[in-house]
Amino acid sequence: MKRQDYISWDEYFMGIAMLSAMRSKDNNSQVGACIVSPENKILSLGYNGMPIGCADDDMPWEREGENPLDTKYMYVCHAELNAILNNAHGNLKGARLYVTLFPCNECTKAVIQSGISEIVYLADKYHDTPACEASRRMLKMTHVKVRAYEPTGREIHFTL
Ligand SMILES: [Zn+2]
Repeated sequence: MKRQDYISWDEYFMGIAMLSAMRSKDNNSQVGACIVSPENKILSLGYNGMPIGCADDDMPWEREGENPLDTKYMYVCHAELNAILNNAHGNLKGARLYVTLFPCNECTKAVIQSGISEIVYLADKYHDTPACEASRRMLKMTHVKVRAYEPTGREIHFTL
């Protein structure tokens, strides 16, 4: 008989999105994303971070500042956008995006344009913001499937 205690596809890919988030240098928000093909092959990974060539130590990570140029928002590239842009295979049509936080409107635009057809998200803590409302409107119009990840309570430990 085969082993029964193996992790599900959803656990596998959301787990990888969570692991990717651990690479983030952002003190306040660590988000990870994992994009998979309809055949459950991993196509790309991403986490929120500064653009390539913008040194992490030279960039602002603050959320507030008198000058918007001194906040992270002007510069940070979100996990979903990074995963879309990191995709080496060139085609995300019909792909599924696992992301640890419901996507903002900017990432949603990129999701739609890239051809991703399903989003599985973990947290939705900005649900009531205009950005997330705009995301939901666009996703509904474009028939992108959206579903909340269903936590299983499984704990995974390993030593690196
Ligand atoms: Zn975003």
